[in-house]
Amino acid sequence: MTVTRPLRGATAAQTHSAVLDLIRSGGVVSRVELADRSGLTEASISRIVRQMLTDGLVAEIGTGDRTGGKRRTLLQLNAGSRHAVGLSLDFARVTYVVTDLGGTVVGRLDGEGIGLSAPGEVVPRLAAELDDLVGSTGVDRSTLMGIGIAAAGRQDSAHRVLRSNPHAEDWELFDLEDALSTATGLPVVVENDSTCAAIGEYWVGRIPASADFATVYLATGFGLGLVTNGDVYRGASSNVGEIGHLVLDIDGPPCWCGSRGCLEVLAAPRRIVELALGRGLGEELGLRGQPVTLRQDADRVARAAAAGHPEALPVIEESARHLARALVSVTNLLDLDQIILAGPGFAAAGEIYLRHAREDLQRLSFVRAVHPTTVTLSRFSDVSAALGAASLVLHSRLTPHQTSSRLALAR
Ligand SMILES: [Zn+2]
Repeated sequence: MTVTRPLRGATAAQTHSAVLDLIRSGGVVSRVELADRSGLTEASISRIVRQMLTDGLVAEIGTGDRTGGKRRTLLQLNAGSRHAVGLSLDFARVTYVVTDLGGTVVGRLDGEGIGLSAPGEVVPRLAAELDDLVGSTGVDRSTLMGIGIAAAGRQDSAHRVLRSNPHAEDWELFDLEDALSTATGLPVVVENDSTCAAIGEYWVGRIPASADFATVYLATGFGLGLVTNGDVYRGASSNVGEIGHLVLDIDGPPCWCGSRGCLEVLAAPRRIVELALGRGLGEELGLRGQPVTLRQDADRVARAAAAGHPEALPVIEESARHLARALVSVTNLLDLDQIILAGPGFAAAGEIYLRHAREDLQRLSFVRAVHPTTVTLSRFSDVSAALGAASLVLHSRLTPHQTSSRLALAR
């Protein structure tokens, strides 16, 4: 593990941030290891660590092996010293988590989804539910660093607005960051849900800054979050990773984006429910076939498939085959060595998606002879976006040297 960006010429804050990131990804490390990994002198590391101890960000946790007659004092993040709130806004459900500095969830609440409500009705409810959750965890409010919001949709180029509810147009121009910040008194950052899932894997999954990986997030649609050199890749306007609109069949069925044969029309929950209904599974699996029950219906089909239901299984297999082929193209474009499948859409039948993705990448990836592309399921399944939103707050505030984003938090 190495610091991937040279620290020569870095500001004190950047150096501090890079060292904190090494402690985060290392788990438990000594000052000597930090000096090795950062290329800084032991004297510099000692000075930086002393400041972190004063700030309460890291803690000494005893001594490691004796080397050269000296025991090494071990360091790790002082998890309880800071907290962040993450929430994922979804049509069907709003999930809130409070995490500590290490990314451990210390409180969770599932609230009613935003449905067709206008933002003016939703924001006071979010603030109230959030307040209840923080109160119930016993977390000292002065340790809260901010709120991260994971939402699906299109961001404007200033990152201020995110269309999080395609069913209610008044969200399109609504400044959610500002409104929730005013309602809670905390800094707020809004981010695309698939990007949140990726940043959550990076922070909580202790992925080192030198790794390049992608997270495929599946809720109502597919999204791709990309982390390179320890930072999220955002593209020109934070609208990167629209894997759902990767075209797999140019003569395929039309997609709402204007194209045809997109991954989304061939494999997303809407298609899964359509195929299951077409196979006459509606009554047996209790599918309601309404737009508002889309996610629950797709989950029912996925659960049946995971249990080996002979009619449900081919439906999920078809979705998984399309995703696998899309992942081959994404890997060919980006030369990825790791892909993580995350989000509620993979909760029930993730293993089926995993199997197809692994088989296709092993067989078809352009770089297969050079290196494998590993595919894994996220350990955080249905909370990965909320957890990632909280991680984004920690990441932006504590390791800004890695963060291209979100100056809103500095307000
Ligand atoms: Zn499309």
